[in-house]
Amino acid sequence: MSDTEFDIIRRYFTRQDSNRKDVITGIGDDAALLQVPAGMELVVCMDTLVDGVHFPTGTPAAAIGHKTLAVNLSDLAAMGAEPAWVTLSLTIPESGSDWLADFSQAFFKLADRYQVQLVGGDTTQGPLAVTVQAHGFVPDGLALRRRGAQAGDHIYVTGTLGDAGLALLLAGDAGADLQHRLDYPEPRVAAGQALRGIASAAIDVSDGLLADLGHLLESDQLGAALSLDDLPRSTAFSETVQRCGADARTLYLDLPLSAGDDYELCFTVPEAALQQLATAQAQFFCACTYVGRIEATPGIRCYTADGETYEPATAGYQHFGVSQHG
Ligand code: ADP
Ligand code: MG
Repeated sequence: MSDTEFDIIRRYFTRQDSNRKDVITGIGDDAALLQVPAGMELVVCMDTLVDGVHFPTGTPAAAIGHKTLAVNLSDLAAMGAEPAWVTLSLTIPESGSDWLADFSQAFFKLADRYQVQLVGGDTTQGPLAVTVQAHGFVPDGLALRRRGAQAGDHIYVTGTLGDAGLALLLAGDAGADLQHRLDYPEPRVAAGQALRGIASAAIDVSDGLLADLGHLLESDQLGAALSLDDLPRSTAFSETVQRCGADARTLYLDLPLSAGDDYELCFTVPEAALQQLATAQAQFFCACTYVGRIEATPGIRCYTADGETYEPATAGYQHFGVSQHG
């Protein structure tokens, strides 16, 4: 390892002040040495963000630092896990100090909010790409999975849908609120943990509701009916879409179904657990909206308020977000 790489690790990624008790050895040895608490299962995930593929070239370093961790915490949330440790593989064209300062500051700001410790990584020179591997804990047998829904279960999503997709579509002209939703997604960590023992299945919405709910349904060969008007849309989304002229109605209906990058949770709850869900929602720190029901017949059917079926023009919107997540 060259001096430069050593300096980068020491200056931007080594901290003394956030040491978890379950980290025996963090950054600085050949590998991290970690202690999984008794009675817990280890949940591990990894996501890579590549410049120009997963975020537009020119995205601020702080947004990349936040998002690279947020997308991984979102995967842990979808499993009902409590985040604990992360490793970071950083490939950067050259060691611009402003870029690294902004990146690491945003990364640690989010990490600190969830008491997550960076315990190792790798630093190389090359085209900009960032990989995070995240580790979390879930009590034995209580992880949420994609598999487990049953016909009749209610379908919910956290937060709002379509915001990030609209920001991506309008490429810088979407306004601060929507741009923030694209650049600084909020992993639903608290909601995921509160849903243990309540949700029958869960997934995070990285590629769009139709795609990700589709994965959840596939694992049990089930279908779903979605109520289009019940899909949660933010005020910024509804107002901004109004300004899209002839496309406004289609975008209003389709973006919350098809656009990716919102990193909300989509989960199912059996009727018998609805009362528990109502109680648990106080711990979500975000909205939670009923959007439809699980059905035995495979496929996703979308209905408008007057009971008409609606075919989203998903294929027409491939360019915004559907493939964002890889
Ligand atoms: P090795 O040569 O054994 O592969 P490195 O020299 O690559 O080790 O890394 C030295 C130490 O710094 C290791 O503990 C490694 O996990 C850590 N490290 C390297 N890059 C990063 C990074 N970007 N963020 C956090 N830790 C890092
Ligand atoms: Mg190495």
